[in-house]
Amino acid sequence: MYSVDEALERILSHFSPLPAETVPLEEAFGRVLAQPIRAAHDLPPFANSALDGYAVRAADVATASAEQPVLLPVSGDIPAGSFPQAPLPPQTAMRIMTGALLPEGADAVVPVEQTDEGASGFAMNAPPPAQVLIRAAVSAGHGVRQAGEDVRAGALVLDSGRSLGAAEIGILAGLGMAQVSVTRRPVVAILSTGDELLPPHAPLTRGKIHDMNGLALCAAVQRLGCVPRFLGIAPDSVEAVYSRLEAAAESDLILSTAGVSVGALDVVKEAVARRGSLSLWRVNMRPGKPLAFGTFGGVPFFGLPGNPVSALVTFEIFVRPALLKLLGAPHANMPHAVAEVAEAMHSDGRRTFARVKLRRQPDGRLLAHSAGTQSSGAISSLVNADGLLIIPEGVTEVPVGTQLPVRLFDQPL
Ligand code: AMP
Ligand code: MG
Repeated sequence: MYSVDEALERILSHFSPLPAETVPLEEAFGRVLAQPIRAAHDLPPFANSALDGYAVRAADVATASAEQPVLLPVSGDIPAGSFPQAPLPPQTAMRIMTGALLPEGADAVVPVEQTDEGASGFAMNAPPPAQVLIRAAVSAGHGVRQAGEDVRAGALVLDSGRSLGAAEIGILAGLGMAQVSVTRRPVVAILSTGDELLPPHAPLTRGKIHDMNGLALCAAVQRLGCVPRFLGIAPDSVEAVYSRLEAAAESDLILSTAGVSVGALDVVKEAVARRGSLSLWRVNMRPGKPLAFGTFGGVPFFGLPGNPVSALVTFEIFVRPALLKLLGAPHANMPHAVAEVAEAMHSDGRRTFARVKLRRQPDGRLLAHSAGTQSSGAISSLVNADGLLIIPEGVTEVPVGTQLPVRLFDQPL
């Protein structure tokens, strides 16, 4: 029997990042960068106005106030997307819109609210007034977004291994990156085993249950940006399991559920042994003890336990880091909180992952309550849980008030 840490280390040693592929930026959401990204140009690419107003030399309006405004001739008009035809003549102002390129010579923008708005008002499509009253002094740089003040050309903006969400896609678009290099999506074959299983659409008959693990694992795999390939349900026979596994030879990872506990191990073990072997079986944890790992046809293989909670917890603890490693994403530090146990808990001395609900107290303390029955067959408490409270090996009694780590659910990559 392996400890959780030994098992994880052994398992992870079988995985390394998949090769990269180039995808259009519009298809890059949820993917993992295979290369660090450096800015090809400054962002913003040129000094521009942060507001609608009048571009000036700050020195020309140094004496302006509401009581003693400064009158300047308007020497130009710069809508966003255009550029000034000539430098700003001294002692003049140019009307400028937010985002428009600052004329040479100008060093500040007076907000339209601090002018008389020009004789014709401040409408973009109306011609600019001949002159404008400036009612406030501005210092150099006021109302100006300098070139490169957001991102400098050449700066590292995203490191490889970074998962691409909305902000990351935004900065790549802003830098003109129409395509990016990302790791190939791992394809994960998923097989449910058990004579008692029916697909969710089949009416229940006596002694049968619906297969929960197949679709639950497909979802867990998709959540990580990987591609599930559901192989269906195999009955408890070596021949049936083997022939389904044959169909998984092209995938990057194989997950099967059930048939790995003491009484039932032989079916999955024998089927895997025909084209590979199991290198690890049984981990000192609860739920999830019967976990098996090996290879089939050269593809890494997890034999996950059949109980739906055990299957999803072992996915979380072992399969998720393995998939993150295949993706080239950070896999060592999963999101944790530290919570105070709100009701006494017991363990049998294995490392225990207890389904808990977290409640923030008014004084800031985070309390962990049991999310319901901790039976590994009871999926409702997993549905109710915010995370898994981790009771270390060797601990059997956890008194109220004990501080323990909680592995949080539903975090993005
Ligand atoms: P086993 O590992 O085959 O002994 O299965 C352990 C328990 O998990 C049994 O109660 C099975 O009926 C149940 N089980 C196995 N596979 C599934 C599945 N795909 N969906 C729901 N329950 C399952
Ligand atoms: Mg079974």
